[in-house]
Amino acid sequence: MLTFPLHRVSQRLWRAVPTLGNQLLPTRCLLCTTPLGGELLCPDCVHHLPYLDTHHCVQCALPLDSAAERCGQCLQQPPGFEHAVVPFRYAFPLDALIHNFKHKHQLAAGRALGQCLAAHIEHHYDEHPELTWPELIVPVPLHWSRRLARGYNQSDLLARQLQRALDIPVATRVCRRVRRTSTQQGLSRRQRLHNLHSAFRINPSTLAAVKGKCVALLDDVITTGSTARVVSQVLLGAGAAEVHLWALARTPEPDRRDPAQHPEA
Ligand SMILES: [Zn+2]
Ligand SMILES: [Zn+2]
Repeated sequence: MLTFPLHRVSQRLWRAVPTLGNQLLPTRCLLCTTPLGGELLCPDCVHHLPYLDTHHCVQCALPLDSAAERCGQCLQQPPGFEHAVVPFRYAFPLDALIHNFKHKHQLAAGRALGQCLAAHIEHHYDEHPELTWPELIVPVPLHWSRRLARGYNQSDLLARQLQRALDIPVATRVCRRVRRTSTQQGLSRRQRLHNLHSAFRINPSTLAAVKGKCVALLDDVITTGSTARVVSQVLLGAGAAEVHLWALARTPEPDRRDPAQHPEA
C-alpha cells in the first residue's frame, strides 16, 4: 500500500464530528478545552491527530520501512483477517482519548473516536472498491468479569456507533470470551497466542449469522494482533467467508514499543 495521505481527510473527519455532541449545549474540545458549539473535538485537534499515514502492511497495518505490501509476519503466518482498516497510530494525544474512554468512563471520547473511525472506514472503502463491504460487525469480546468491572465493553460501544453510521448490523453474541486471560503485558508473541488459544468460543446458536459473510472484526487498539488473529480464526472456523480487522489505532511493532505504553486489554 502506498503512503495514504490521511491528514487530507481530516477536514472530512471533522465535518462528521459536529453530529456527536448535543447541538443545543456549548461544549469544550476534549483535547484542548477550546469552547465549541456542540462538537467534541476542535478542527485543529482533529487535524493534528496521529494519523497512520506512513507505508504499512495491508493486512495488519504494521508500519513498514520497506516498500513491501505485507510484513514478514503476515507473509509467514497469515493472520486470518484479510485486511486491516486503522486510521491512527497509537500515539499522543490519541492514546489519552482511548485511555479516557476505556478506563475513565469518558464516553464522549468514545463517541468522538467512533465518528472518526466511521468516517475513515467509509473513505477507505471508497478508495478501495476491490474490497468487499462487510455485512456484519463483530466486536472483540471481553470476558464478563472485565466487562462487569469496567461497566461496558468499549468495542461494543464503538460497534453500535459504526452500526448507526455505516448501516451494518452488529453481532455482540457471536463470539464469547470463555476464559479470562491474564494481562498480556511482558509476554512474547508465542506466549500470547498460547494464552489466547482457548479463550474464545463461537456461540453455536449464531452460526447462521456468520456463515458466508464478510465480517468486520472490531477492536480498539492493535498491538501484536494476537487477539485479532485468534478471533479471526474462530470466525473463519464458524463459516465466515472473509474477515476484515477494524481498529482505532496501531502500535509500532512490539520490539520497538515502550512496554509502559501497552494498551491491549
Ligand atoms: Zn482542540
Ligand atoms: Zn502484516
